[in-house]
Amino acid sequence: MDVARTLKRRNAKEVKVIYRRAREQMPAEDSEIESAMHENIEFLFQNNITKVIGKDRVEKIECIKTELIKVEGERERPVNIEGSNYVMDMDYVVMALGSKPQANIINALNLEVNEKGYIKVNDMQMTSMDKVFAAGDLIGVKSTVAWAARSGRDAGENIVKYLRKN
Ligand SMILES: Cc1cc2nc3c(=O)[nH]c(=O)nc-3n(C[C@H](O)[C@H](O)[C@H](O)COP(=O)(O)OP(=O)(O)OC[C@H]3O[C@@H](n4cnc5c(N)ncnc54)[C@H](O)[C@@H]3O)c2cc1C
Repeated sequence: MDVARTLKRRNAKEVKVIYRRAREQMPAEDSEIESAMHENIEFLFQNNITKVIGKDRVEKIECIKTELIKVEGERERPVNIEGSNYVMDMDYVVMALGSKPQANIINALNLEVNEKGYIKVNDMQMTSMDKVFAAGDLIGVKSTVAWAARSGRDAGENIVKYLRKN
């Protein structure tokens, strides 16, 4: 949301926020969405980007419409509606996507993970592998910059404590 509004203030002619779920599910403050709409940012809810098209730079994007499917115990899941693809002109794309810990590294180190796939740590932030510590989004804290920074600092302090003891 910050990026969309900043781009608009930096004189981008048209800014679109493409979101695969519905407005009610958007992980943004309602007031932010309202303000962005006031600033003439266009929201394409229940749309997904499938392709970025262009030779040396972005020229177009291909999108597809989505429908929301109810799944027991989970929030509604967006599913692409087959055949609803369309293309529009675009010259700049900012990806704003969530991420998960990289499985190949976790598997290579044989680290224990919790049911959501985040790395398990003990109260010293040490992983299931001796002397390997983890912090931030990897261990599934609150997924904010402030929490990640704090978690990194705590891990640093825990490493120092560990080294002093051993
Ligand atoms: C779209 C989006 C919007 C967000 N908006 C907000 C917001 O408004 N406010 C807020 O507080 N938080 C926001 N967050 C959450 C916030 O960005 C994260 O919680 C925070 O960045 C986590 O910090 P981190 O240090 O744990 O991980 P990251 O910031 O992800 O840092 C991990 C670093 O490790 C690097 N890396 C990955 N794999 C390897 C490897 N194999 N070798 C070496 N380096 C590697 C990555 O390139 C990256 O630089 C947002 C997140 C997303 C995805």
